[in-house]
Amino acid sequence: MNSDSPHAVVLGAGIAGLLAAIVLAEHFPRVTVLERDTFAGSEPRRGVPQARHLHGLMEGGRAVIETLCPGLTEEIVAAGAPTTEVLAGSRWYLSGLRAAPTETGLVTLLASRPLLEWGLRRRAAALPEVRFRESVAAHGLVAVAGRITGVLVSESGGHAQAVAADLVVDCTGRASRAPEWLRAVGAHVPEQDSVVIDLGYSSRTYRHRPEHLDGQLGVVVSTMAGRRGGGAIVVEGDRWHVTLGGMLGDHPPTDHEGFTAFAATLPVPDIHRIVTDAEPLSDPVPHRFRGSVRRYFERLPAYPEGFLVLGDSLCSFNPLYAQGMTVAAQQALTLRACLRAGVAELPGRFYSGAARHVDVAWRMSTGADLNHPGVVGRRTPRIRLLNSYIGRAHRAAHIDPIVARAFMRVANLVDPPETLLSPGTVARILWHGRGVRPEGSPLHSQ
Ligand SMILES: Cc1cc2nc3c(=O)[nH]c(=O)nc-3n(C[C@H](O)[C@H](O)[C@H](O)COP(=O)(O)OP(=O)(O)OC[C@H]3O[C@@H](n4cnc5c(N)ncnc54)[C@H](O)[C@@H]3O)c2cc1C
Repeated sequence: MNSDSPHAVVLGAGIAGLLAAIVLAEHFPRVTVLERDTFAGSEPRRGVPQARHLHGLMEGGRAVIETLCPGLTEEIVAAGAPTTEVLAGSRWYLSGLRAAPTETGLVTLLASRPLLEWGLRRRAAALPEVRFRESVAAHGLVAVAGRITGVLVSESGGHAQAVAADLVVDCTGRASRAPEWLRAVGAHVPEQDSVVIDLGYSSRTYRHRPEHLDGQLGVVVSTMAGRRGGGAIVVEGDRWHVTLGGMLGDHPPTDHEGFTAFAATLPVPDIHRIVTDAEPLSDPVPHRFRGSVRRYFERLPAYPEGFLVLGDSLCSFNPLYAQGMTVAAQQALTLRACLRAGVAELPGRFYSGAARHVDVAWRMSTGADLNHPGVVGRRTPRIRLLNSYIGRAHRAAHIDPIVARAFMRVANLVDPPETLLSPGTVARILWHGRGVRPEGSPLHSQ
């Protein structure tokens, strides 16, 4: 590779960074991915502590990833990950009621996060344009006359140095220091919004047996009706990956008895049955997530050319709704479309395209969070109305397969939320969502 040829540098080799590198390789003859960690095959690594917890890939995200990396789903399946139909092959409980088991046209890829990342990393590494540098941490930007021309890095045990780049893409995740870095070079800093949810996760793996859950491969218990929820999916290695979650400080314990007892308080017994029946393969591990954070780069009055922010660095969502990887993939697809149209005024075009995807997921997830009385935030009449409507949609989805299908396609970020407002669907939701109530839910006493 010619060292004078255009060079893009991606900071962070998480899901966003890998997808960004794959997209950038179409346009830049040299793409360098700088990662603070060392890679560990398909094992979880230090820089991505969330990888030890259940990572549901929404069908909207899988479809976009497949567009960017054709055949990847098959490779992940060949590495051992099962697939299943979202509602016909697994169980979704919304507000304590099981969504009607019907064909949705949605196939879920049940891979652990490290396996998905491993698959993407292999794809990126196979591109001749892409080079990885491990154990290299970014800690600032280099700017000349208002343009970002490189990044300051330090290698473990080595000196600080500058890496020159025509484009730097920050994919360092929710702890991104992009605002501080921009301030330090005299550039505008984006406004930031956050919704504090004080979510705690505790996750553990168990050996899967075919008779568990009547042969179904996943169960999701949403938290809409209370502060506690959980999920269990069968991932590669024929293991149950079980994650329990609690909002607003109601965190699941990490000892065997406490973990099992927490599972018993969920509104339905499925997860508790799994954790009491299956052989544990690991100890529970915790994760704490303070809140969703959105940085409004699209509102900046001016952008330094040569710098973009993508993935959790741009917006980090409440993980309960499993949107982060999908929205990162949608942003990577947006970046590809922007680059195909040329590099002139790239940041402005990218951020306005990315904001359209972020807006949808942000409104859905923060709106649902505000349904919990303890979450601080402005509940506009629109949010209150929508939350009451979503509650009805949950109840209607229990008895009406057409509503269940429509709801799951929106939750999977395949169809836009507006499809739930079409006259036919509104009529079904209002009629079928009238009176059903979850049976004996412990959540109601919380
Ligand atoms: C507990 C939890 C559960 C989640 N569950 C789901 C789910 O079910 N479904 C879903 O879609 N999403 C889920 N998410 C969100 C998902 O993890 C992210 O949205 C997604 O991985 C995209 O993140 P990213 O690539 O931007 O950042 P990350 O995945 O966090 O990757 C950032 C990378 O940058 C590296 N890095 C950090 N700082 C530096 C630096 N200074 N220099 C160089 N490298 C650096 C890190 O080591 C890491 O490799 C969950 C998140 C959490 C916290």
